Amino acid sequence: MGDFLGYVIAFFAILLIRYFITAGFFYAYYLKVKNKKTDKKILSQRPLKKDQVKKEIYWSIISSAIFAFFGALLYWLYLHQFTGIYLDPAEYGYWYLPVSIVAVLLVHETYYYWLHRAMHIPKIYKVVHKVHHNSLSSTPWTAFSFHPWETILEALILPIILLIIPLNIYVLLFYLIFMTFSSMVNHLDIEIYPAPFRRSKFGKMWIDATHHHFHHKEFTTNYGLYFTFWDKWMGTESRKM
Ligand SMILES: [Zn+2]
Ligand SMILES: [Zn+2]
Repeated sequence: MGDFLGYVIAFFAILLIRYFITAGFFYAYYLKVKNKKTDKKILSQRPLKKDQVKKEIYWSIISSAIFAFFGALLYWLYLHQFTGIYLDPAEYGYWYLPVSIVAVLLVHETYYYWLHRAMHIPKIYKVVHKVHHNSLSSTPWTAFSFHPWETILEALILPIILLIIPLNIYVLLFYLIFMTFSSMVNHLDIEIYPAPFRRSKFGKMWIDATHHHFHHKEFTTNYGLYFTFWDKWMGTESRKM
């Protein structure tokens, strides 16, 4: 039990450092571009609400504590050999490394899209998801600004995936870093991907700051996490895309 608490504290420290370094870095860029006011990349000219950033940081610190609990749980499951996490990249063959990350991306995407749709059911929305939408125009600090119920629902899926899908430890680390950057980029409220990429077939598959900006603006469109395919299939993509 003492060990488990130690894991939680260690993960909490790591997650706080992750949040403040990455959001701080993106926020410096955010302020630089937003101060220009006329930059074409700026998605929303709406001023932030009073104390918005303070509130986002408050909820994100609580989210980090919850993510830390799930991190410790995952580590405990790994130590007791319940997970599919493995150390030697050659164990399942190198071909398996890209295949496994695509599988994790697709499972996570599907879980998130339908969870997100459920979180917009009015009764659930008020309790679980409203905190995130209090940020009408998002900032990098919004990336982990969730009510604890939402954080728990979002965090649940990774331990479940890792009980089922074998994943190399380095692929898992890459995935966690990718997840962090994707959340920051999508909440930046400034479009940073080059226009030719966004117009390309490949680019149109990916969610970017513009896509998620419309979710915060329109509420009932653009529910996806990394990919646009569920929104396209279900007809929930914003018409402004
Ligand atoms: Zn939402
Ligand atoms: Zn958001």
